[in-house]
This record gives sequence, structure tokens and C-alpha cells, in this order.
Amino acid sequence: MRMPDTGSLRGKRYLRLHQRGRNNSASAEARVLRDIEAELDRFEPALVAFPPLREEAIRRAQAVDIRAYRRLRDYARGPVSRLSPYITHGLISVPEVFRVVAAGGESGPTDRFVQELAWREFFRHVWRHLGDGIGADIRDALPGVVYTSRVPQDIAEATTGVPVVDATVRELYETGYLHNHQRMWLASYMVHMRKVHWRAGADWMYGYLLDGDLPSNHLSWQWIASTFSRRPYLFNADNVQRFAAHLASRGTGIDRGYEELGQIAASNVELEPEGGPREAPTPPPGLHALPPRLAVSATLPRVAGNESVAWVHPWSLAERPSADRVIGVIHAPFHRAFPWSAQRWAFVVEAMQAVTDEIWIGDLEQLSGALLGRVADVTMTLNPGYREAITGLRGGARAEPRLTPDPDDLKPSFSRFWEHVLATRAIDFSAQG
Ligand SMILES: Cc1cc2nc3c(=O)[nH]c(=O)nc-3n(C[C@H](O)[C@H](O)[C@H](O)COP(=O)(O)OP(=O)(O)OC[C@H]3O[C@@H](n4cnc5c(N)ncnc54)[C@H](O)[C@@H]3O)c2cc1C
Repeated sequence: MRMPDTGSLRGKRYLRLHQRGRNNSASAEARVLRDIEAELDRFEPALVAFPPLREEAIRRAQAVDIRAYRRLRDYARGPVSRLSPYITHGLISVPEVFRVVAAGGESGPTDRFVQELAWREFFRHVWRHLGDGIGADIRDALPGVVYTSRVPQDIAEATTGVPVVDATVRELYETGYLHNHQRMWLASYMVHMRKVHWRAGADWMYGYLLDGDLPSNHLSWQWIASTFSRRPYLFNADNVQRFAAHLASRGTGIDRGYEELGQIAASNVELEPEGGPREAPTPPPGLHALPPRLAVSATLPRVAGNESVAWVHPWSLAERPSADRVIGVIHAPFHRAFPWSAQRWAFVVEAMQAVTDEIWIGDLEQLSGALLGRVADVTMTLNPGYREAITGLRGGARAEPRLTPDPDDLKPSFSRFWEHVLATRAIDFSAQG
């Protein structure tokens, strides 16, 4: 762009007009943002408590305001459903959520809410094809950049001095839930500005989320890191100002242009924690390989010869299967590798107790050996250890409910996956009751 000659009168007039134009558009934008903030107040108080009940999941699905979601989903205080803990633990399935929302008659293939459900389906599609391979780089990482496998103490204790980062970490610990944008910002800050390896960040965040889900989590972190996307995801203070004014972080290390942030991401330069005052450190809550308040017995459940048996695991908690004996199963080796917060355990155990006769904790390989031909009802899951034990049962397993048929070949991107799904016409977008 040619710059005006600022020494001449014409140049000075240009600059004045240009400046006025910029001020006008800046104040118009500020007005729009103020209006949006006022509108977001309507959606408070956010649904921060997560009672582990199926009725609550159905109520949340019925409450989705698809039009408001379309416009305001990206705002941290926006009208998102907070259904993810319920979907993750099978209290409601994605096809059920879709049916409830589609009954409103306003959803179609390009609808924001439907597309987000579809992202979850896409991640499951990739998981089915790559299995535990989703835990390692899918594409090459940024060349030459060295990442640490430890989460730095100032991030873990919410004392980085970057308000959006610290508030997000505190919210994660307190509620077990984060808005999608906050997850993206926190992950991007950790990987690209602080050089934390995406896998270390993913495992850490997974433990605290009530909705921690290996494919949605690991593949989202890989997407941010650029090992499952074309370029690193970056954000700056302007972005935060627009979508989360209450977490404004101007004047901190993320208050830079995208070119500079890109250079930092592609190098071994690391942002320092900010100087200046900050809140007291928040000690990270403990992560537990076993439910903290549940007595563990090593004895195998005894089953009478004529009793029919069903298994319920942490990802299939919707309702009691129709069997004489319903056993809630917790495969200890999985949880040693992926420990959970006490509040996540409380969510899972309460929901599990409501639909089972007893909870058994141990190595599922042992239990499946003992009950090989006896388990008549169990839902498939790809979570490691559970997957092998269920596959080994003689009675087979129900498929996890899915919104879309899974393409046979691995689709390399969401858009290719979605094109395929729409071409099969497997999803009925006409309103349903
Ligand atoms: C770094 C990072 C980590 C993540 N980890 C998880 C995780 O462990 N478990 C998890 O369920 N989601 C994860 N997500 C995806 C997404 O952030 C959450 O699903 C969503 O924020 C849950 O809130 P909600 O139920 O209010 O979503 P809504 O916006 O109301 O969406 C409805 C449902 O659609 C699905 N969905 C929405 N957005 C996404 C998305 N971007 N990707 C996949 N599915 C989506 C979820 O099942 C969600 O419950 C992660 C995203 C990022 C960037």
C-alpha cells in the first residue's frame, strides 16, 4: 500500500480522514460488542453444576437455543449446551441429542450445533481407524521446536500473570468444564508460547475435565499443535477481548500481532511468566487412579447359574440394562494411565450406582475370563483395556450409538468426512418428534 505524503496539506487531510474513519469503525465495533455483552448476560447464570442424571441431560438438550447458538457460540459466556460430560459418559447419546434438537425443526447440515456434534463423530471416526495411535503425532510437528513433557508450575498453579490463562485453569479445577474457546486458548498458550508438548497438555487437561474424552481431547490438542492440521492455532489479546471481555489480557505476552506469534511458535523462544501482581497460587487438585471414596474389593462377583449378567462401564451410564445382575465395571489399569479428578469420579460413580447392583474395580481381563460366556449385555468402547476385555466376551457387544455411519476409509479432514456423511443421506434433517 502506498503511504500518503504526510508533509503536504493533502497528506495531512488524508490522515485526519483516515483516522476519523478508523475511530468511527472502532466505536461502531465497540457498540456492537457492548450489545453482545448485554445479550450474553441473558444466558447467565451458566450451568456450572453437573448433576449426573439422565433427566438433566435431556433437559439440557431440550434447552438448546439453536438460533442463539448459531450467533453466539464462540463467546465464552455464550449459550453452549454444557452437555459434554453427559455425552462422554453415555448419559445421553449424540443421536439422541440430535433428535431432540432436530425436533425444533431448525437444524440442517450446515447448522453450527449439528456441525459440532459432527466434529465429535469425526474424532471417533479417526479413533476407530488409528486406535491408540491418536496419542502420538499424526503429522510432523513444527521442525526444530523442542517441547517439554512437564506442565510448568506457574500454569498448573494459575500464576502465569496472563488473566485468560490463569482464570481458565482455575475454572477447569473448580468446575471440570471449559468453553471450547478457552480450551483452545489454554492449549495454544501452553504448546506454542510455553513449548509444552501437546500430549503432556492433553493428559493434564483430560484428568480434570468431567467430559475428558480421548479422541476429542487428543485430536483437538493435535489440531492446535498442527500435528493434525495444516498450521498451528494461534490467538492473541484482541481475540480474547472480542470473545471473552471479562478475561481481557491486554499488555501481556499474548498482546502481539499474528506474524510475531507465528514466529514464536515456530522457534524455541518461550514466553516468560508475566511480572507484576497476581492472585495466590491455586494448588492443582489431586488426580486419582481409583474412585477416592469407594471401597475396593478384590473378589470376583459371584453369579448364580441362571442369572443373566450385564456390564455397565463409565461410558455407558444412560440406564439400567434389562439383566438379572448388572455389574458396574472399572478397569483399574486404564485409570492408572489416565487418572481422574475427585469430582469426575463422583460424577461417574453416582451415575453408575444408579443403574447397577454393584461396582467392581480391578483388571477386566480377569473378570471377562471368569464371566466369558455370561455377559449378555454391554456397550462397546474403544477405551484401551475396556476394548480388549469386551471384544473377548463370547456374547458380543452393542455398538456405541453414532449419529453417522462410519466411512470405511480414513477421511483425512472434517470436511471430507462430512461430505461423505451427507452424501450417504443417513441423517434425517426433517423435524422429528
Ligand atoms: C484443547 C481441547 C480439548 C478438548 N477436549 C475435549 C474432551 O476431552 N471431551 C470433549 O467432549 N470435548 C473436548 N473438546 C471439544 C469441545 O471443546 C467440547 O466438546 C465442548 O466445549 C463441550 O462443551 P458443550 O457441551 O457446551 O458444547 P456445545 O458447544 O454445546 O456442543 C454440543 C456438543 O457437541 C460436541 N462438540 C462441540 N464442540 C466440539 C468440538 N470442537 N470437538 C468435538 N466435539 C464438539 C460435544 O459433544 C458437545 O457436548 C476439546 C476441545 C479443545 C480445543
